[in-house]
Amino acid sequence: MDEECCDSGCKPCVLDPEDGDIPDLLNYISGEFLPARCEEWLNDLSPATGMRIARVPKSNVDDVNSAVAAARKALPEWSSLSHAQRADWLDKIANALEERCEEVAQLESLDTGKPISLARNVDAARSVTNFRFFAEEVRNFTAETFDMENATNHVVYKPVGVAGLITPWNLPLYLLSWKVAPALAMGNTVVAKPSEMTPMTASLLAEIIDDVGLPSGVFNLVHGHGEETGAALTSHSGVDLISFTGGTATGAKVASSAASSFKKLSLELGGKNATIVCADADMEKTVAGVVRAGFLNQGQVCLCGSRILIEESIYDDFVSRFLTAVEAMKIGDPADPETDLGALISADHLDKVSGYISLAEEEGGVILTGGITPEGIPKQFENGNWLSPTVIDGLSPNSRCATEEIFGPVVSIHAFSDEIEAIEIANATQYGLAGSVWTADLDKGKRIAQEIDTGMVWVNTWLHRDLRVPFGGVKHSGVGREGGRWSLSFYSHAVNICIHND
Ligand code: NAP
Repeated sequence: MDEECCDSGCKPCVLDPEDGDIPDLLNYISGEFLPARCEEWLNDLSPATGMRIARVPKSNVDDVNSAVAAARKALPEWSSLSHAQRADWLDKIANALEERCEEVAQLESLDTGKPISLARNVDAARSVTNFRFFAEEVRNFTAETFDMENATNHVVYKPVGVAGLITPWNLPLYLLSWKVAPALAMGNTVVAKPSEMTPMTASLLAEIIDDVGLPSGVFNLVHGHGEETGAALTSHSGVDLISFTGGTATGAKVASSAASSFKKLSLELGGKNATIVCADADMEKTVAGVVRAGFLNQGQVCLCGSRILIEESIYDDFVSRFLTAVEAMKIGDPADPETDLGALISADHLDKVSGYISLAEEEGGVILTGGITPEGIPKQFENGNWLSPTVIDGLSPNSRCATEEIFGPVVSIHAFSDEIEAIEIANATQYGLAGSVWTADLDKGKRIAQEIDTGMVWVNTWLHRDLRVPFGGVKHSGVGREGGRWSLSFYSHAVNICIHND
C-alpha cells in the first residue's frame, strides 16, 4: 500500500495499488456532469477498509456560482408547473430510484461503513418513500381560505426560490431526498451539497434525475468541503433558502452566514437523547429497543439514545440483560447481511469518539464493555475505523461525556429514583432533539414525555416514523420543523390575498 496526501491537505489515505478503476464522481450543473473548475479532487475513503473508493470534485465558489445561476435560470419554468405536474416528476424519480434500490444500498454501505441490512431496509427504502410521500402530500395540498363578512382571504403558497440543501454523512440519501423532494414539490430549484465523505448516492441521484429527464438546472449537485463549497452556498446572494442538517457547531456558522441576507433557514442539528427505562417496563422488549436506540448505525444517528436512565429498583437486572444483548451484536463486514454493526465514518471521527471514552475514564466512568478495537476483525479491515460497542457506568449525569454529543457506539448508563429525577437528568443538556420512555403505564409515559424538553419523544418504541408528523429539535438541536405539512410550509412562502366582496 502507498500513502498519498489528498490535494486538500487532509490526512493521508491508504491507496490500493489496484484502485486504478475507482470512479470520479462529478458535479451536476445545468444538466451536465462536470469536474470542479479548478480540476482538483478529494478522496472518498471506505470507512471499513480505509481504501480510496472514489474521487470527488473539490468544488469552490466558481462551481457554486455556476450551480446557483443554473438553478435561478430554471426557476421560472419549474415554479410555473402545477402541484400535480411536479408530483408526477417526483413519482418518476421515485420509480427510477426504486429500480436501483439495491445499488443505492450497496453504495451507501460501502461509503458509510454501515451494515448492508440497514442500508437496504432504512436508507434505500426510505429514499424512495421520501419522493413518493411528498408527491402525494403536494397532490393533496390545499391552501386555506378565511371568510370575513365582506371579504375573503386566500392563502397562496409560493416557492421560496433557489434552495441550498446541505446534508451530513450518517444517512446520506435518506436525508438528501428528505429535502430535495419537498423543495422540488413546492416549486423551488435546488443546489445540493452532500458531505464529501459520503458522496456516492447523491451522485447516483443526479444520474437518476438526469435519466428521467428533469429539466436542466432544476436539480444541481456540487461536491466539496463544507467550509469551502458549503460556505459559498450559505453566503450566496442568489440562494433564497438553506436547509441544513449536521452538527450544532456547524449549524451556528451556517445560521450566521445565512442571516446577513435573510435566507429562510431550517437547522436540524445534534442530539444527546435520553432513554428512560421505568421499573414497570416490559424487560425483554425494552432491552431490545434500548440496544437498537443506542447503537443503530454504530450510534451515528442524531436520534440515538446515548444516555440510558434506569429506575434504581431494576438497575442491576436491566444492566446485566442489556450488556448481554450489546455483547451479542455482530460487528464486522458491512457487506455481510448478518452484521449488526459496521465501521465508524472516518479515522478522525474514531479519534473523536475514542477521545470521549478516555475522557469518561478521567471523569470517573467505568467501561463495562467495549471501548476497544473489536477482536477478530479480518485483515482486509485492519485500516478501517472500528470500535466495539461501549457501555459506560459511574458517570455523573452532568459530566461532559453524559451531556455532549459523542455520535458513536458509546452509551452511558445512570440510575434515577423517581419520575422527577429522570426528567431532571433528561433535560440537563444543551440539546433537545429526541428521547424515549419505556413503561407499562402509558399515562406515565405520556406525562414524562411532555416534560422532556425535546422536539420528539417515543413511548415504548424508538425511531418509529410517520412522515406526516413534525420532525425537529429545540434548544441547541435546531430551529424549525420538517416532515409532512411542515416541510411544504418551510419550502414555500405563504402569501395572503384579501379580496373585498362589495
Ligand atoms: P457537519 O460536520 O456539521 O457537516 C454537515 C454538512 O455541513 C456537511 O455536508 C459538511 O460538509 C457541511 N459543512 C461543514 N462546514 C460547513 C460550513 N461552514 N458551511 C456550510 N456547510 C458546512 O456534520 P456531520 O459530521 O456531517 O454530521 C453529524 C452531525 O449531524 C451530528 O451532530 C448529528 O447529530 C447531526 N445530524 C442531525 C440530524 C437531525 O435531523 N437533527 C440528522 C442527522 C445528523 P463536509 O462534510 O465537507 O464538512
